[in-house]
Amino acid sequence: MTLISTNTPTAELQALDAAHHMHPFTHNAELGEKGVRIITRADGVWLNDSDGNRILDAMAGLWCVNIGYGRKELVDAAARQMQELPFYNTFFQTSHVPAIALAARLAELAPGDLNHVFFAGSGSEANDTNLRMVRAYWQEKGQPNKNVIISRWNAYHGSSVGSGSLGGMKGMHAQGGMPIPDIHHIEQPHWWAEGGDMSPEDFGLARAQELEKAILELGADRVAAFIAEPVQGAGGVIIPPATYWPEIQRICDEYNILLIADEVICGFGRTGNWFGSQTMGIKPHIMTIAKGLSSGYLPIGGSIVCDEVAEVIGNTEFNHGYTYSGHPVACAVALENLRLLDEEGIVTRVREDTGPYLKEKFEGLTSHPLVGEAKIVGMMGSIALTPDKASRAKFEADEGTVGFICRERCFANNLIMRHVGDRMIISPPLVISKPEIDMLIERAWKSLDECHAALKEKGLM
Ligand code: PMP
Repeated sequence: MTLISTNTPTAELQALDAAHHMHPFTHNAELGEKGVRIITRADGVWLNDSDGNRILDAMAGLWCVNIGYGRKELVDAAARQMQELPFYNTFFQTSHVPAIALAARLAELAPGDLNHVFFAGSGSEANDTNLRMVRAYWQEKGQPNKNVIISRWNAYHGSSVGSGSLGGMKGMHAQGGMPIPDIHHIEQPHWWAEGGDMSPEDFGLARAQELEKAILELGADRVAAFIAEPVQGAGGVIIPPATYWPEIQRICDEYNILLIADEVICGFGRTGNWFGSQTMGIKPHIMTIAKGLSSGYLPIGGSIVCDEVAEVIGNTEFNHGYTYSGHPVACAVALENLRLLDEEGIVTRVREDTGPYLKEKFEGLTSHPLVGEAKIVGMMGSIALTPDKASRAKFEADEGTVGFICRERCFANNLIMRHVGDRMIISPPLVISKPEIDMLIERAWKSLDECHAALKEKGLM
C-alpha cells in the first residue's frame, strides 16, 4: 500500500492525484499536466499549501467556511457526538437529539412561518427534495398538473440531475440529458452584461416581469414554483437591481406560485442577515440551505419549509429521503456552528462593521483601469473586468480568457479569488478582520495590475 501523508513531496502527491483522482468541474487531463495545488492546513482565513505558502482564502473554501478554519469547538462537537451516537436514521419512527435540536434552532432563526426542516446531505440533494416536494404539494392539493418549476438561466442549484436541471448552466445541460421535463428557464437580472441601454431599475423590473410572461404562457394552473438564489453566486455574484425582488414577490403572490429561495450561499450571515431573503425583503415558502449551515466542516443541507406546505406534505407519505438526512454528527456540528455565529455576533458584525468596511474598499477597486463595476452585499462581491468602462464592453478574447489570467495572478499572489467568465468574485470567511480585508484588497489590486500588464503584452487590450 502507498503510504501518503502531508510530508510526502508535492510532486509525488501531484502525480498520484493525476493518476487516481477525478476532480469536479475540471478538465482533468489539463490539470494533471499542470499539477494541483495541495492544501494541507488552515486557520482563520488562511490556507497553507504543501510548498509552505500562506494563502488568503477570499472564497471561504466553496463559499462555505463562514466561521473560518480551525475552530476547535466544532471538532469537539463532532467528537462528542461520534462517541455518543455516530449514526442513526430518521426514517422509521425514530429521531435523535441532534436532528431535533437543529431543526428547532433553524425554525427559530428562519423568518416568518418557516418552521419545518427536511434534512439532506448537500445543497443539490436539498433542491432535489424541493423539486419533489412542491410537485407532491400541488398533487396533494388536487392540482397534479401544476408541476412546472420556473428557474433562471445562469442560476446554480446543484449538480445532481434534478438540481442541475433546475439550474440554468448551459454547459451542464449539454452533458447528460438535462434539463428533465417541466423545468422552464427565464432570463437573469444581470444588468452589467445584459442591461443594454436600460437603467438598472427598469431592467430589474423587466426581468422580473419575464416571470409573469412565462406564467401566462404556461398557464398559472401549470406552474408549481419559482426558484432563485437571492443573489446569484456561482453565476458571478449578480446582485439584482432593487426593483427585481419586490416584483417577483408580487407575481408569485398574485398567481399562487410557491417561492423557493436557494439560500445555499446566501444563508447564515453571508449577506449580513441570517438569510439572503431577509436582505432582499422576500417571503419564500421554502429555503434551501447547506454550506454555511455547518461552515463546511461536515456535509449537511436541507429545506426549511413553511407551515402550509409542511402541513399538506405531512398529510401523505412523502416517499423521499436520504440515508444521511439529519446525520447526527453533521447536525451536532451545525448546531455548534450556529451557536458560535450567534454568540460571537458574527452576523451582526458583517452587517454593521466589517461588511461596510469591505464594501468601501471593494468599491474602491473601480478606480482600477480594468474594473468596470464592483458590487457587494455583506461578504459576497464581484467585479466586472472590461476594456471600456463607459460602454461596458466585453474583451475580444473568448469570455473567461481575461478572468482566467486574473485568477492566475491572484493565485500567484497567494489570494484565492475565483473568476466566472470575466468577473472576479469574492466570498471570504465572515470572520475576516479589517487588517485582513486590507490585505485582500492590496493583493487584488496587485493582481489586477499584473493582469493589466499581461493583457497589454499579449495584445488582448
Ligand atoms: N445551490 C446553490 C445556490 C449553490 O451555490 C450550490 C453550490 N455551490 C448548490 C445549490 C449545491 O450545493 P452542493 O454543492 O452542496 O450540492
